[in-house]
Amino acid sequence: MATTAASGTAPEDGFDVPALLQELTLEEKAGLLDGSDFWHTQPVERLGIPAVMVTDGPHGLRKQPAQGDHLGLGDSVPATCFPPAAGIASSWDVDLMTRVGAALGRECRAERVSVLLGPGVNMKRTPLCGRNFEYYSEDPVLAGELGAAFVRGVQSQGVGTSLKHFAVNNQETGRMSVSAEVDERTLREIYLPAFERVVTGARPWTVMCSYNRVNGVYASEDPWLLTDVLRGDWGYDGLVVSDWGAVNRRADAVGAGLDLEMPSSGGSGTRAVLDALAAGELSEEDVDRAVGRVLRLVDRGRAALEPGHAFDADGHHALAREAAAASVVLLKNEGGVLPLDPASGGAVAVIGEFARTPRYQGAGSSQVVPTRLDDALTCLREALGGARDVTFAAGYAVDSEAADPALVAEAVEHARAAEVAVVFLGLPPSYESEGYDRPHMDLPAQQVELLAAVAEANPNTVVVLSNGSVVTLEPWQSRARAVVEGWLLGQAGGSAIADVLLGRVNPSGKLAETVPVRYRDNPTIGAFPGEHGTVRYGEGLLVGYRWYDARGLDVAYPFGHGLSYTTFAYSDPRATVLDDGAEPRVEIAFTVANTGSRAGKETAQVYVADPQASVHRPEQELKAFARVDLQPGESTRVVLVLDARAFAYWHTPLRRWAVEGGLFELRVGASSRDIRLSATVELSGEDVRAPLT
Ligand code: BGC
Repeated sequence: MATTAASGTAPEDGFDVPALLQELTLEEKAGLLDGSDFWHTQPVERLGIPAVMVTDGPHGLRKQPAQGDHLGLGDSVPATCFPPAAGIASSWDVDLMTRVGAALGRECRAERVSVLLGPGVNMKRTPLCGRNFEYYSEDPVLAGELGAAFVRGVQSQGVGTSLKHFAVNNQETGRMSVSAEVDERTLREIYLPAFERVVTGARPWTVMCSYNRVNGVYASEDPWLLTDVLRGDWGYDGLVVSDWGAVNRRADAVGAGLDLEMPSSGGSGTRAVLDALAAGELSEEDVDRAVGRVLRLVDRGRAALEPGHAFDADGHHALAREAAAASVVLLKNEGGVLPLDPASGGAVAVIGEFARTPRYQGAGSSQVVPTRLDDALTCLREALGGARDVTFAAGYAVDSEAADPALVAEAVEHARAAEVAVVFLGLPPSYESEGYDRPHMDLPAQQVELLAAVAEANPNTVVVLSNGSVVTLEPWQSRARAVVEGWLLGQAGGSAIADVLLGRVNPSGKLAETVPVRYRDNPTIGAFPGEHGTVRYGEGLLVGYRWYDARGLDVAYPFGHGLSYTTFAYSDPRATVLDDGAEPRVEIAFTVANTGSRAGKETAQVYVADPQASVHRPEQELKAFARVDLQPGESTRVVLVLDARAFAYWHTPLRRWAVEGGLFELRVGASSRDIRLSATVELSGEDVRAPLT
């Protein structure tokens, strides 16, 4: 009996979906395809189908009351605020990402949340996207690996995720309607593969469509995207949910493969489904397919309704600190000014309001109310424990554009009296948010003026940055002896910064996005944010480092760059073609040694170049990476296997992936522009230039 299938059964018994589909009325079915409020699905009490709650993240739980305001924080419950994606991406650490995901899952269970709305694996097409802090990288392999690790972690706790925003949503300007005009090869090679990796590698419970249009069609109504690619090519069997308010024509959305509309449309979505059924625009089969997926989601999600789960707030704070320290990228360190010796030396002048009032997350729907908040000033004072004097000068007011001469003079005085000046600079919160893009890439001019004055007073000047996406470092960075990219680091960022500055943690972060010399060097110049609701992707394959490499442009810091307090040597590359399957695979092996005097972690990156390709291909593309953790003098052999896809391109006429026969170069490096080793392999591949028969 269908009623017993749902009501009164333990979650592990599972819903009898076919039986429920028989029992549900058409009105109930249409209702199940609509949210009941901002965060819940519709219940059908007579059949024992509960409402389940979905809520934002992704870097912390943002649980709000049922009708909670959308972009404000309302009275959200406190939760651990981990580093947003832009930060944690620099760790290149999939194990860490999985552990953070599992912690997020535990917090969801404690708050009876069934689905956490993340990860966001949008590509960083432009440095100006206001939401870049929520996304991992300009590279699909890195974003895909981290997104998959996030999903595995959260879902290991019996809580679902929502892979977003599907797809080609790379700007906030006009996000509700802008059409991204992009060819299929670019879609397959750049904008879709991170989603593909997460879907095929980690099976997220839900996928969230984006607001925008792709080649003129709303993502929420695109059968090619939501059905042919997602379900057909990638074998996805979970649920597709709309971004909040992304549905336009309800019948078209259901027909295209969109299952659940969120948030509640006040009943209009339900009525639209019933009207479309009555008019024959939708069949009951279409509706049942979507309802079946909603029922399976509710079935999985109801485990989270059980009370009695808790999480260890101190343990999660410690994990947030570990994640934040792993996210920090040491961009430059002249003369070994860092790490600071905690036990000896003169005064440390801490300068900049961000040291006292940390900027730790970006604005918009992902904001979390943290369980606690570390600031770098307090943490540095505690860490130095009276052994070195720590003075503080605010230097600037965060939201002001104009320099305050009194604050600058005070900072200069502190810097002059100190042995080292640590200057905290960054983007004011109003610069970066969901909902709009930045007009430029620069720090506020008054902060640059402050730095110039401080550096003149004290040549031992270290800059620590707080920003959700890259900022212009020229021309000011030459004034600083060290530059620490601190991103937005979540609630434990202050202690993590102290850990890195003092060398309690050896920095190991590597840039997940290129820092161009100047904004006008970036690939979207002249093609962002588009005109008349359309943005043309042009030479779309050339995103991030692919563009700077192809154009031979100097960059401030390349993709993959990050220093350590120790040094690493690479040696003995060996590439072997493995003939053990239908498709070619290549094993690449090499040795990494810690040649310095401190223990440290290194992320070795493997790029593939296809110099003999008959079509235009990027100079090189990241295909694999490995993190090693080595004691001084220790070395290890890294062995990685690249599958056929690592060598393939999307063959537009054949509409499939193809590996062209010929020579391929595998480049192993400490960054995309610090290639230490290379090896060549010859793959038999196929002759895809031959005319089709
Ligand atoms: C955002 C999503 C978010 C949703 C719910 C939308 O505006 O684009 O990322 O999950 O709101 O808050």
